[in-house]
Amino acid sequence: MKKLMVLSSVVCAMLCLCACGSSSKKLVMATNAAFPPYESVEGNEIIGIDPEIAKLIADDLGRELVIEDMAFDSVIAAVQTGKADIAMAGLTVTEDRKKNINFTDPYTEAAQVIVVKEGSEVTTPDDLEGKTIGVQIGTTGDIYAEDIKDATIERYSKFFEAINALSQDKIDAVIVDREPGKVFVSENEGLKMIDEEFTVEEYAIGVAKENTELLDQINASLKKLQESGKIDEIIGKYIKAE
Ligand code: GLN
Repeated sequence: MKKLMVLSSVVCAMLCLCACGSSSKKLVMATNAAFPPYESVEGNEIIGIDPEIAKLIADDLGRELVIEDMAFDSVIAAVQTGKADIAMAGLTVTEDRKKNINFTDPYTEAAQVIVVKEGSEVTTPDDLEGKTIGVQIGTTGDIYAEDIKDATIERYSKFFEAINALSQDKIDAVIVDREPGKVFVSENEGLKMIDEEFTVEEYAIGVAKENTELLDQINASLKKLQESGKIDEIIGKYIKAE
């Protein structure tokens, strides 16, 4: 009987090792692929700055990159619950988010900007007072909009829905990240971006609090990729200097 128990615990341990081994081969990235040039869908593929950087990190860690596309406001929960190993979604580092996940070192700088219709009376961030502002739910733009005096916030599940509402005069402005904002303005006639940036931010990769080993590995990887110029190369491929 004793022998049997020992044997079964060995089998259990082996099964666990195999299971853990195979899942640790994958590096699951939670993202929202509606945020060009950081991530977007092209054909059957998710392309952009984040998947390209993530691929290099996965290669460096000897793991296979698997991308899970989901709503932006689910990416942090996906990491917290272990559904994904990393959240990489043009994800801005904020003190509030740090309560729920750890962030790697930042891999790029970013900003929130204001997109309006050409000819709009909104020409500076202060002009947003009392206006109807479109945001993507759960983004830093959403958080900042809450501080604007007398503003009405319209929350959309995707940025392009906010942009469509703006084109149709349903809202007065959209607060969005700078580079996606540029893409949306270039793809939609009659829109423009206000020169003055709303806030300056940094993007980093989110990792579960308890997964400090992965956090350290990714930071080491990011450092190498930064030093070799690979990150700049990828960013330069998608964002042309003005
Ligand atoms: N940078 C913004 C944030 O982290 C928006 C990111 C996104 O919509 N993918 O909240």
